Amino acid sequence: VLAAQGVRKSFGEKEVLRDISLEVGAGTVTVVLGPSGSGKTTLLRALGGLETPDAGVITIGDSTVDFAELTPNRRGRLPRAQREQADRLASHTGFVFQGHDLFAHKTAIENVVEGPVIVQGEDPAAARERGMALLEQVGLTEHADKYPYQLSGGQQQRVGIARALALRPEVVLFDEPTSALDPETVGEVLAVMRDLAQQSWTMVVVTHEIRFAREVADDVLFIDGGVVVERGAPEQVILAPREARTQAFLKRIL
Ligand code: ATP
Repeated sequence: VLAAQGVRKSFGEKEVLRDISLEVGAGTVTVVLGPSGSGKTTLLRALGGLETPDAGVITIGDSTVDFAELTPNRRGRLPRAQREQADRLASHTGFVFQGHDLFAHKTAIENVVEGPVIVQGEDPAAARERGMALLEQVGLTEHADKYPYQLSGGQQQRVGIARALALRPEVVLFDEPTSALDPETVGEVLAVMRDLAQQSWTMVVVTHEIRFAREVADDVLFIDGGVVVERGAPEQVILAPREARTQAFLKRIL
């Protein structure tokens, strides 16, 4: 469903991603682990079209973009046709941020239907019906008409997940979805994510939740210094890491 080859991204002099490749099969969960500053967020944002890689070929669903062929101007803007190509690629993804990114002046259900109606042109009534089903799936039926400030951090994150799913993405990208939450609400968000994994959503998850990674991931990618240091099944990468850098990281966080 998703394949990335040779993805590179620098910010000024700083090379944040160096030649990263990954493959994500349909219905699988890939967890990306790595120390702070290793490039995890940048990788996820590149997959979701929120950053434009300097090079690399990314395929998601039926779209492929060779980023080495794109020619941003000095301000980093792409010519229109290339922008559309990159946007089409990104449209196959849904993105769940760390939190605090819902529209504050819209209710939960309005947040969920915004993308389908405004971006995808879906009929509002149909989008609302689908949106309510998604809110039910994340356990928020009774909170559909509440505004973000009336919801807990965990509930807001679940709205964020429903909103990402509403776009019918081929791949759902999660960027440390529980890192900004109070400890007691982390579990409810991870439970929803487990549910999605069970329903065979294809997911790429940046997280420090090792237990989640061990129990839910099909593949674990350990990134450090902008390269993939180690990858494999969780039993291998987490329980029996081969690389010294992976071992040192796990020792620090476990
Ligand atoms: P964390 O776990 O702390 O979020 P991370 O592994 O997700 O870390 P990234 O957020 O991808 O790491 O950042 C990798 C490096 O790139 C960091 O040194 C960061 O300062 C730098 N960086 C990220 N985005 C930008 C940007 N827009 N401009 C300049 N530097 C950036």
